[in-house]
Amino acid sequence: MEKTMRGAYLPGNSTVELREVPVPTPGHGEVLLRMKASTICGSDIRCIYHEHLGRGPEGYQGVIAGHEPAGQIVEVGPGCRRFKEGDRVIVYHISGCGVCNDCRRGYMISCTSERYRRAYGWQRDGGMADYLIAEEKDLIALPDDLSYADGAQVACGFGTVYEGLEKIGISGSAKGAAGWFKVTDGSVYFDHPVHAPADHSLNIDVLNPSRGPSARVALELDPGSARALAHAILETLESVPESLLVDIR
Ligand SMILES: [Zn+2]
Ligand SMILES: [Zn+2]
Repeated sequence: MEKTMRGAYLPGNSTVELREVPVPTPGHGEVLLRMKASTICGSDIRCIYHEHLGRGPEGYQGVIAGHEPAGQIVEVGPGCRRFKEGDRVIVYHISGCGVCNDCRRGYMISCTSERYRRAYGWQRDGGMADYLIAEEKDLIALPDDLSYADGAQVACGFGTVYEGLEKIGISGSAKGAAGWFKVTDGSVYFDHPVHAPADHSLNIDVLNPSRGPSARVALELDPGSARALAHAILETLESVPESLLVDIR
């Protein structure tokens, strides 16, 4: 293996500097990766073209840039438990202490350890080099049907968006105040409570397309009188379906 490698640094003034540096050796719990892909993030662009932030999560500390790396393990340090030489991996972009409350819940990005929270490419060497030292606990196995370029975009790019969607709880049944009615043996069940407004009136569009044009029901009911609501809907249909999608306003 080579003794030296090229690494990209961001000295400011809209420049990138390639420097020849020694190939590092993995310590306890660390692996050495041969870099295969390292994508450029929007936050890198800020760092390249605008002033460097000296503090905080994006405080650039003069290290090799690149926080979206994917590569192949070429050397495993002592104490590693899962990964081995030859494995294809993604590096999660934030290395947390691993033992604070946030890290244990899987949110290394908000690790509270000032000493041990270090993001790749910001406070510790990142992926814009021939080789990278990563901690084994930051690795994610890259499936064979994903390329290294796919993998590099997963953790920060795709993962950030995915986590956002998870948090706001989008699902295929969300449409206005829509709800699913499940009909079994003539009884009707709701997937979540339906609350009638204070004036006891609801306008309901039955969106289930299996019985032709959608039916419209307007009725009055007591708050929480879900059964009356369901029967009123069913009366507008020619036969009882297995389920109904209704839009309640
Ligand atoms: Zn990023
Ligand atoms: Zn932590």
